[in-house]
Amino acid sequence: MARRSLARSPYYLLALACGVALAHLTAPSAPRASASGVPRALPPSLANELAPEVAHAVDLPEPPAAPRQDVQNVPGTPLSPDLARQSAYGNGLVIDGATPHRLILFSFDDGPDRRTTPLLLDRLDAVGVKALFFLTASRIASRTGMEREQAALAREILARGHLIGSHTVDHLQLPLLDDAAATEQVTGAEDIFTRVLGFRPTLIRPPGGARSPRIDQLLAARGYTTVLWNLCPGDVQVHSAEEVLDIFRKALARREREDGERGGIVLLHDTNIWSVDAFQMIWGELWSRNCELLERGEELYDVVPDLSFFYQPRGNAPPGFIAAPAEPDPAVLAARQARLRIETAQRCAATDGF
Ligand SMILES: [Zn+2]
Repeated sequence: MARRSLARSPYYLLALACGVALAHLTAPSAPRASASGVPRALPPSLANELAPEVAHAVDLPEPPAAPRQDVQNVPGTPLSPDLARQSAYGNGLVIDGATPHRLILFSFDDGPDRRTTPLLLDRLDAVGVKALFFLTASRIASRTGMEREQAALAREILARGHLIGSHTVDHLQLPLLDDAAATEQVTGAEDIFTRVLGFRPTLIRPPGGARSPRIDQLLAARGYTTVLWNLCPGDVQVHSAEEVLDIFRKALARREREDGERGGIVLLHDTNIWSVDAFQMIWGELWSRNCELLERGEELYDVVPDLSFFYQPRGNAPPGFIAAPAEPDPAVLAARQARLRIETAQRCAATDGF
């Protein structure tokens, strides 16, 4: 795979504004597993310990800090099948969303938000899409009425079959914190999730995508799989669904042109109403593209419901190793494409008359 060359791209600034994940991955030293999932080599020194600060979502003002309640964990309690599914993707290589296939996985950060997340959940259901939600734990800590409402919303996300990951307690950039504070951001979120949802997530998206060897080590030691993204429609930087869709189109085209990636993990924020609208527009875009792709006999966009297509166990690889571009079992891919072709043919025929 061609090394990402964002620095020469007109979207470089946008990519940076989308978070440090992309910038971090542009470092020549960033290790990646081979396509077989086996790390190519021991990693040379990773990028700088301190990641640059990036612009990020501005949430509603948080309520004044209150002492955290003691959390009652229930160790040894078996997880229900639904919750076991939530824990199926721990201890993995770092996922950056790269794939040569038209696989699309939607992810939503920074929520839940009582103003916008309920609408998003309905829209996801309306089109049958399952997504990843990286929740900021302080928003569901149940200290205030708003947080209790959002805790109920987190349970609703779970009940509707989406995967939930941690976005830490307070959305601070972990590499900027000392060991104790970084650990508190991670374990404090685990306590809140356990209390509110009944399980401890094993997926994490560090706020801003900010990583460092020290943070990678911390997260790996706690069994996490770090999930980044490769398609950033910039919904923090622009404030209309149309602009987000436009950036998504450009990001998709650039990924294919420069990296040979035709799909990946999309980063949106369910705290913005325009992002909720943008999701619907992006989904519609993929659907209408599929009508054209079907006619040309090409691979269709396949919105996948979970991480199984991207996940690779870490095994003995050092923390921070990046997973190989997602390359699903050809038989699985072919079966999904066959189903998609039938469904797409019906949908495209149905919309032709309008
Ligand atoms: Zn975030």
